[in-house]
Amino acid sequence: MLLIMVHGPACQALAKILMKWAELIDENVEELAALEALDAGKLYNWCKTVDIPLVANTIRYYAGAADKIHGEVLKASMEFHAYTLMEPIGVVGHIIPWNFPSTMFAAKSAPSLAAGCTMVLKPADQTPLTALFYAHLAKQAGIPDGVLNVVPGFGATAGSAISSHMDVDKVSFTGSTDVGREVMVAAARSNLKPVSLELGGKSPILIFDDADIDKAAELALFGFLFNKGEICVAGTRVFVQEGIYDEFEKKLVEKAKAWVVGDPFDPKSQHGPQANKKQFEKILSYIEHGKREGATLLTGGKRVGDKGYYIEPTIFSNVKEDMLIAKDEIFGPVLSLMKFKTIEEGIKNANNTKYGLAAGIVTKDIDIANTVSRSIRAGIVWINCYFAFMDDVPYGGYKMSGFGRDCGLDALHKYLQVKSVVTPLYNSPW
Ligand code: NAD
Repeated sequence: MLLIMVHGPACQALAKILMKWAELIDENVEELAALEALDAGKLYNWCKTVDIPLVANTIRYYAGAADKIHGEVLKASMEFHAYTLMEPIGVVGHIIPWNFPSTMFAAKSAPSLAAGCTMVLKPADQTPLTALFYAHLAKQAGIPDGVLNVVPGFGATAGSAISSHMDVDKVSFTGSTDVGREVMVAAARSNLKPVSLELGGKSPILIFDDADIDKAAELALFGFLFNKGEICVAGTRVFVQEGIYDEFEKKLVEKAKAWVVGDPFDPKSQHGPQANKKQFEKILSYIEHGKREGATLLTGGKRVGDKGYYIEPTIFSNVKEDMLIAKDEIFGPVLSLMKFKTIEEGIKNANNTKYGLAAGIVTKDIDIANTVSRSIRAGIVWINCYFAFMDDVPYGGYKMSGFGRDCGLDALHKYLQVKSVVTPLYNSPW
């Protein structure tokens, strides 16, 4: 009998293998963190204590879900017994970027494997090392050959081979909006495979007059500098209400000047080099653009030293909404600081972007928090916090930041499809 995949014992066996894989990742945390720091310029200590442990946690989260996937019995409207099965979508192609090679690998592979799919993952050509090591550990954990495949390569070749392949049943893509569009076109032109896209962002943080100014400045600082600004949800448009604007600006600039940019292996460093030369040059050219457009450079604006791709934390004020630095995703440590008067104006300005990935709100007023969070068009809103990612909290884009969700059970459902099964009841006229 050809019994396909996800019956109970197979799911439990799968969960056990995924748990073993997570354990092996924990055991190899130092080697993985070093590979990530070398490959992506990320802080070694951060990778060791946060990113790599998070990979293991994500795998455990979805391992726990692997044997709890089920359909439902339906109250059929005629004399039939009807129910649904949740089946794996098949072969999943994952295409991921270079800024979070490890956590992105986990966010894609763990739910698709737990759903019972096989997968082919293409890491970014700049950062393939940890993905290959995770695959090696997966084999040791007992994931059978052919189930988890890592294919490093360039986007135009390896990436488009996935999105246009007739035997790939779904593509889950994270990267830029432009490439996301190409992936969608290739999927449509080949076998009409469903696509989910996690794309770029230009996320706003709204800081209201009643905020604790020091804490708000810390939040905004971290919001644009974490991972050297190479994060899709970076809070790169900060809108501050006029009553506290001047004091906030002063504090933020002081803090940015004290931020330590340096060797990612040095525990004192708060951020390392940009990931590659292309990115480094792109960021510096946006900074020049900002100056030419007439924004005021409050701090930063140039490379650190003359070696490596290090860039100073850079803050512009007097930024107009139509300036390039306020509209484009720079993907580096560059912030546009703007002022607003009323709540309505704050909401309008925050939404004035083609993107809709994330947003932050800083206020002690519950009415403002509730009203603004409902009015912002973004996939995740953080109130009095930022970058609060968790395995069970879905995130993804509105507008041109894409569609489909990573994390949470929503991510699991991306890799499942519903089959309805219908059979007549005894005495049915059918
Ligand atoms: P990118 O779009 O250039 O590349 C992403 C991936 O797509 C890479 O693996 C690349 O090799 C591949 N690729 C390139 N051309 C392709 C093609 N024609 N067909 C198929 N695949 C192709 O993005 P990047 O520069 O690696 O990453 C930065 C971008 O990713 C930013 O825009 C950032 O906002 C976005 N990002 C989004 C999220 C999110 O969750 N929304 C997370 C991280 C990064």
